[in-house]
Amino acid sequence: MKKVRTRFAPSPTGYMHIGNLRTALYEYLIAKHDGGDFILRIEDTDQAREVEGAIDMIYHVLEDTGLHYDEGPNKPGDCGPYVQSQRLPLYKEYADRLVELGGAHYCFCHEEDIQKMREQNSEGQIFKYQDPCHAISIEEARKRIANGETYTIRQTIPSNGITSFEDEVYGHIEVENATLDEGVLLKSDGYPTYNFANIVDDHLMGITHVVRGNEYLSSTPKYNLIYQSFGWDIPSYIHVPPVMKDEQHKLSKRNGDASYQDLIDKGFLKEAILNYIALLGWAPNGEEEIFTLNELIGAFSVDRISKSPAIFDIEKLKWMNGVYLRNMDIETFHEYALPYYQKTITAKVDLLELSKVLQPRVVMLEDICEAVDFIDQAHPFNIDLYTSKKMKTNPENSLEALKWVRTALAKTEHYDDDEALMNLFVHIAQEHVVKNGRIMWPVRVALTYKSFTPGGAVEIAHILGKEETLKRIDQAIEELEKAITA
Ligand code: GLU
Repeated sequence: MKKVRTRFAPSPTGYMHIGNLRTALYEYLIAKHDGGDFILRIEDTDQAREVEGAIDMIYHVLEDTGLHYDEGPNKPGDCGPYVQSQRLPLYKEYADRLVELGGAHYCFCHEEDIQKMREQNSEGQIFKYQDPCHAISIEEARKRIANGETYTIRQTIPSNGITSFEDEVYGHIEVENATLDEGVLLKSDGYPTYNFANIVDDHLMGITHVVRGNEYLSSTPKYNLIYQSFGWDIPSYIHVPPVMKDEQHKLSKRNGDASYQDLIDKGFLKEAILNYIALLGWAPNGEEEIFTLNELIGAFSVDRISKSPAIFDIEKLKWMNGVYLRNMDIETFHEYALPYYQKTITAKVDLLELSKVLQPRVVMLEDICEAVDFIDQAHPFNIDLYTSKKMKTNPENSLEALKWVRTALAKTEHYDDDEALMNLFVHIAQEHVVKNGRIMWPVRVALTYKSFTPGGAVEIAHILGKEETLKRIDQAIEELEKAITA
């Protein structure tokens, strides 16, 4: 059996959106699942649409996500160069050869005239250009070219019959040749069009599996006619469903939808992004959804790629990000969390201890800033927070509880860990015959004045330390007294 070779063939026309990255990932997984090669080819023949920096972004994202290619622009192999603009003479040579083989012809028509006809074509009708240049013999065409006439090379499509192929996802696809437009393969400036360069390169680079968006399904028969004229093997096609923003809209780089870099900037972990993207259009065989890249290589199979569009669900990605954060060892989590602490906290607190409290709860690293913003300073006094139906607390009994806590805390020498503090609070509750919540709730409020906190009273008091905790409780007592008697 032939060695599997896949390629990611991006056009550098914008940033890498999630759909692009998914294509790259699937290509990578298909190759690596069978011990094959994954190739990067830059399709930059449409120079007018090229966006500065886009190529560097492609390199960066592939490197960052660990989708290492075996051959590519900066990874020499036997089929280089891997940038199409550096292969121009090749396309010209193959286009001329295709003319000789009857799969294409020289055309001297002006694109503007054809465009006008296309526009005049009544709506809903498929436009098929009846090219008068069909009638020109190769010899005559060559003479005209030698005389300096500008020309294009246009595909020659049989006027009847059907072209079909088997797609690994969408099954049997067939198209009537009469509906296929005789598109330009080589432009008058010598540049190939996407369609042609892509075919020549897939052949010369020995690509066995082509993965790409299903928007290419309907033109694939046209490409296959070219393969047939050359007598080349047709690769396996794996057309993948679109990634949608919602039921109606595709994610697209032109509309500025989620790019890989945006997600990284929002604080998503690259491992979570890659894992989530794998599931956009592919379903694992079983309940498990969390996969490392290596596990994906083992688990991935083309027959579980879906035909239906996949909706990009940011909430699911958040959930997955949380899973990845929780699965890290504490040292790694701490390293990730540190920059967020540095942005928010100046007080000297035990940050590793803080990481231990946060790790089980944080979904996004960005959330850390808001979660820890009470450490330098509690939020402003808010009497309403003392009322909790569930804990049976109100401002009056909270004041009472804070006073008990104040006295016990000041006396205690056991302030070293969560367990000691827990015992202290439980002891106070027992002494006054109230539920633990009657004590913990007011303490948590007094120390933070936040409705949501990353930990409970015990953890927060521990992180703030005895001195700061006492200070905040004193202040809370004072403010509560003032508010109640007012
Ligand atoms: N350059 C094309 C694109 O970026 C590649 C399509 C293909 O993979 O065949 O859409």
